[in-house]
Amino acid sequence: MEITILGSGTCVPYLKRGSAGIILRIGENILLFDSGTGTLERMLKRGITYLDLDVVLYTHTHPDHVADLVPLIFASKYGETPRRRDLPLIGGRGFKTYFQAIQGAYGRWLQPDLFQIHIREVYDDILDYDLFRVIARPMTHLPDSVGYRVESSDGKSAAFSGDTDYCPNLIELAKDVDVLVIESALPDEMKAEGHLTPSLAGRIGREANCKKMVLTHLYPVCDTVDIAQQCRKEYRGELLIAEDFMEISI
Ligand SMILES: [Zn+2]
Ligand SMILES: [Zn+2]
Repeated sequence: MEITILGSGTCVPYLKRGSAGIILRIGENILLFDSGTGTLERMLKRGITYLDLDVVLYTHTHPDHVADLVPLIFASKYGETPRRRDLPLIGGRGFKTYFQAIQGAYGRWLQPDLFQIHIREVYDDILDYDLFRVIARPMTHLPDSVGYRVESSDGKSAAFSGDTDYCPNLIELAKDVDVLVIESALPDEMKAEGHLTPSLAGRIGREANCKKMVLTHLYPVCDTVDIAQQCRKEYRGELLIAEDFMEISI
């Protein structure tokens, strides 16, 4: 398993950190978690195009997580090499309605001819694939928010919180996981409802007993504070502060 953080930031335009987007490679499979603004270009910098994605999974439909879905489908339809392979999209409850709404707005520009889009809504579900399984659980952010855990057939595991507040489901989802990529939107002294702080993220990492944590979804103010130290108040395991294009091997 190989994780690439494409964007470690938020909705705030910030040269240092792009919007949410994470690539997970499992053998030949390429999974994309969220596609905030600029995700398609940042994928290219790692040699990945819209043709290469096997599954795209969404944690929720806030724009900083879904903005590049429209360009993804548009490029898949009208690129010099159009996509011919079906595109599975996974999202929380209501994702189909959301997708129908954007398809309604763009009409045929978002209706592929050479491939099909398969949408699967998840809430508390397990999806089995050949070389891995995906476990989804609802998170504490929006009614449609889900976090994901991926387990490979060779015993590796990674979990992705998406946006969330303190959430018992996330502790279960990340139990003993090799790597937990977790949001840590704002420093401890700026706690916002629906989001974590470094020490709350650390508490989840400790309670889940995860082996390694990666703090991501960082507002610019996080770069002015020692968020690692705030997380360390709760978590003693291996800790990384995400950067765009950071790669984590499991
Ligand atoms: Zn967000
Ligand atoms: Zn959000």
